[in-house]
Amino acid sequence: MKRIPDLPERGEPFIVCDNLVKIYKVADLEVVALQGLDLDVACGEVMAIIGNSGSGKSTLLNTLGGLDRPSAGKLTVSGLDLIKFSDRDLVWYKRHMVGFVWQQSSRNLIPYLTALENVQMPLIISGMSTRKREARATELLETVGLGHRLRHRVGQLSGGEQQRVAISISLAHSPPLLLADEPTGEVDTQTANTIYDTFRSVNEEFGTTIIIVTHDPNVSYRVDRVVAIRDGRTSTETITRINLEEGEEAISHDEFVVLDSAGRLQIPKEYLEQFGIRDRAVVELADDGIVVKPAQASEEEDERRGLRGLLRR
Ligand code: ADP
Ligand code: MG
Repeated sequence: MKRIPDLPERGEPFIVCDNLVKIYKVADLEVVALQGLDLDVACGEVMAIIGNSGSGKSTLLNTLGGLDRPSAGKLTVSGLDLIKFSDRDLVWYKRHMVGFVWQQSSRNLIPYLTALENVQMPLIISGMSTRKREARATELLETVGLGHRLRHRVGQLSGGEQQRVAISISLAHSPPLLLADEPTGEVDTQTANTIYDTFRSVNEEFGTTIIIVTHDPNVSYRVDRVVAIRDGRTSTETITRINLEEGEEAISHDEFVVLDSAGRLQIPKEYLEQFGIRDRAVVELADDGIVVKPAQASEEEDERRGLRGLLRR
């Protein structure tokens, strides 16, 4: 059986996805859900993944969580090579290294048990004594701000509270990595914010690395970094900076396009459309960077130049 590895320091590389590919086969059809995805996540980071439906977000999360095996590429978490994992290693990994929170609270919770009993379930399975697991479950529920709801049954809790119980359950075994797939998909904006705040508290309290998949564009105010996925690849990345201006917090976002390991980048669709760039483009060096121009314009320019050359002769 594997041992939990020593975790990297906060800010050091934790998850490395390199050219990750996932192909699903359905009957005779192949669906390429991840098309050579690159992503690095630092230890202790709280980040979000956004993207249209079908872009591969859940596939990525399931792969990171050991629920799905990648078809090709590299994937390491805290130095563990998930590609080389046996089925037994994966069972160990799911139990000790990751916690999951799903969109539907029904997938996270047992309805007829109280909050305290729900959080104890995974600990019963691992054979912890009654006193210890009650203490642990209470501590976890207090961390997510539900110390006053320990004896409430799931049905007596609001949607946001239910998701916070789910977060406590996912943390029962103190996993270093927490994965949440659209955890705010079924709640209103205000409740979504309390859930994001809970992720923050968990990160501060336990140093857990947290990856949240969401449709919610406002998430960028709640996390350190947002990575957008398009067609199974990372396309843009937004980094949140909190500046203190005259004692007031001002949040700013810097947006970047992502280069993959082969130097390929995705240019935002709007930019391409604005200049009518399709199939081909011309890349030129400028003093302070690289300019991408429509191929057509440059062909015309070449023609003009050629013509001029002829005239000069
Ligand atoms: P997202 O979470 O961003 O909506 P998914 O990761 O669920 O996207 O899906 C990415 C693509 O892979 C979609 O085209 C989807 O239909 C396909 N897909 C996802 N899971 C499976 C599966 N188990 N079997 C076959 N195809 C799948
Ligand atoms: Mg999904």
